[in-house]
Amino acid sequence: MPRFFSAPTAFAALLSLAACSPESDDPNTAIPDVDVPELSLSTLQDVTRQLSSDEFEGRSPGTAGEEKTVALLIEKFKEAGLQPGNNGSWTQDVPLVEITAVNPTPLTFSGGAAPMTLQYGADYVAGSYRVQPSISVKDSDVVFVGYGINAPEKGWNDYAGIDVKGKTVVILVNDPDWQTPEAQGEFNGRAMTYYGRWTYKYEEAARQGAAAALIVHDTEPAAYGWNVVESSWTGTQYLADSTNGGADQTAANGWIQLEKAKQLFAGASKDFDALREAAKKKGFKAVPLSGVKASFGFDNRIAKKMSRNVIGVLPGAKRPDEYVLYTAHWDHLGRCTPVDGDDICNGAVDNATGTAALVTLAQAFKAAGAPDRSLVFLAVTAEESGLLGSKFYADNPVFPLGQTVAGVNMDALNPVGPTRDIVVVGRGKSQLDAYLEKAALTDERTVVDEPTPEKGFYYRSDHFSFAKRGVPMIYFESGEDLVDGGVEAGKKAAEDYVEKRYHAPGDEFEAITNWDGMMADLRLYYAVGRMLAMTSAWPNWNEGDEFRAARDKSRSAS
Ligand SMILES: [Zn+2]
Repeated sequence: MPRFFSAPTAFAALLSLAACSPESDDPNTAIPDVDVPELSLSTLQDVTRQLSSDEFEGRSPGTAGEEKTVALLIEKFKEAGLQPGNNGSWTQDVPLVEITAVNPTPLTFSGGAAPMTLQYGADYVAGSYRVQPSISVKDSDVVFVGYGINAPEKGWNDYAGIDVKGKTVVILVNDPDWQTPEAQGEFNGRAMTYYGRWTYKYEEAARQGAAAALIVHDTEPAAYGWNVVESSWTGTQYLADSTNGGADQTAANGWIQLEKAKQLFAGASKDFDALREAAKKKGFKAVPLSGVKASFGFDNRIAKKMSRNVIGVLPGAKRPDEYVLYTAHWDHLGRCTPVDGDDICNGAVDNATGTAALVTLAQAFKAAGAPDRSLVFLAVTAEESGLLGSKFYADNPVFPLGQTVAGVNMDALNPVGPTRDIVVVGRGKSQLDAYLEKAALTDERTVVDEPTPEKGFYYRSDHFSFAKRGVPMIYFESGEDLVDGGVEAGKKAAEDYVEKRYHAPGDEFEAITNWDGMMADLRLYYAVGRMLAMTSAWPNWNEGDEFRAARDKSRSAS
């Protein structure tokens, strides 16, 4: 799921000024000057061409396409002079689970003014992260927990003073200040924080011991209609398998329609609109819907398969036990809905280019001589099914996360020509911005904010799996201000890609018309990694960022 490039606006440029928060421990002093050697266009093209050929069948995890992909990456990593990254092995096994909820019952709420019955699909959807044959939630107490956020660094806890063990929590979508027009505020205003993502809400509900978590759908703060919720939740879901089979998860996670939530609250003599307002304020207290009990259930159809992350390492010359990470996902959609008789989603741009970039960078680093710190080149699986390969690595790291300095993620490089601007997705989150800004300055390029921070793109590619565990990660890509043609031409080219090729059989090698933009961006990817591998600094998340506490903890344990 690459965000792909979007237009910077004058508005975004203004915000970027505001986002430059002064750090007391100024990272700039710690950023070394680095040289960027010539990077190999032929390697980038060659690996992209092979990965996206029909022979690789769209690189779906667990298929023959995976076998070919993994074999090719091992061969290329070896040729580049890397060493196997996983204790002598080039790969890390990633167990995947496909889980489909079948035979769902309606969701009933009893004990209110009148019993309510919600139909699966039309009124509610649910699934489970527990790998077990059937799921039953029976007569579970219902509690409204506002936005369902527990953020110690902000002194905000929607679960304070209430025990939700075994209960069904009802949660609002997005974060409390989503209506603020600026991208600033307790929860970054209109910009989404991790606390606003549905994934977070289910994770926190599980930590609190809830039996079930139900998010109230609302089109504006969700940014999509009920149709999207229904279609994405009623099919097969993908998980990375864990040793406990998801025993630490809620039994069920789901969504309910807004109108049904209002009825449910009214039946318990509660005013939904008033409580929704109250939940926006710090100090909000969760509200039990006294007497109301939730019941529903479904069976799980379960299939398991094994996939692999590919890991190569270039040991550091001076501090080999400190690691700088490059990540890119090798997987794509495999066979897909045919267009003009072609049913292979080749994923040339997404993400054969990013994967080929790993090889190209590895080659260049080896040729230039190993930097002080070790470099880890990690090609992850199953990004397209929900960042599963990166999540599995971050949950089962080969190199300790507390010793992992920082990382750069690459997802779908720019196929339409060089741009003047570079968009940082999640700008202002960490001190890594300063590294990129220095590299961009050398190349006379301008760093800008992402134009739609409310869409939460920072939380939607592989860097996020590491960020969540505290490792500072930067994700940047070309903007739309084409050197040749400006913003208008860039916008058109981006729209053209999204319409005709993104996640479709048309994302093919031959459709890449221009490699100069990728080569320009590759210089920045190289420079940022080299700076990180040559400094002795430990860049951190900025003060107030949701991932800083996780970092401080992992560093103090190292
Ligand atoms: Zn991608």
